[in-house]
Formats: sequence, structure tokens, C-alpha cells
Amino acid sequence: MAKKKTAKKAPQKQCPKCSGHVHVRKSTCDCGHKFGTTTKKKKPVPKKSKAVPKAASFFDALKSEREALQQRIEKIDELLKSY
Ligand SMILES: [Zn+2]
Repeated sequence: MAKKKTAKKAPQKQCPKCSGHVHVRKSTCDCGHKFGTTTKKKKPVPKKSKAVPKAASFFDALKSEREALQQRIEKIDELLKSY
């Protein structure tokens, strides 16, 4: 009757050095490997769209984007024609 479910799976990560399992909270493995990359790091978020773009530069960007797209379309059209 006594069902013992003691084996709660603890969150573990694998050590790339010795391939042993280490508890996620441990920052160093028994073999001495330091987990630096597996921990969540705050990535520097590229500053984007917080500042409202000035109209002129915004339209310039749109124009150049449009031109680039048109060039691509032309290239694609050429490719399509050759088939
Ligand atoms: Zn290790």
C-alpha cells in the first residue's frame, strides 16, 4: 500500500565535460566544469522601435527597402523566365 514516490525528478543538466548529470542550480560540476552558458543570461536587447523614427529617415528606409525588394523581384522574374 505504501507507494513511495520519492524519486521526484530533479531538474538536471548534463555536463559537457564529463557528461554527468548535475543539478540545474549547481553552477559547477563535480569534475570542475563551470556552467556558464546554460544559465539564463540577459541578452542586450538591441534598441528598436522605442524611439519613434523620424518621418524622413523612416520613409528613406522604406524606399530603400522597396528598391531592394524590387531588385529581388526582378531577379526572381529573370530566374522564372529562364525556366
Ligand atoms: Zn562534469
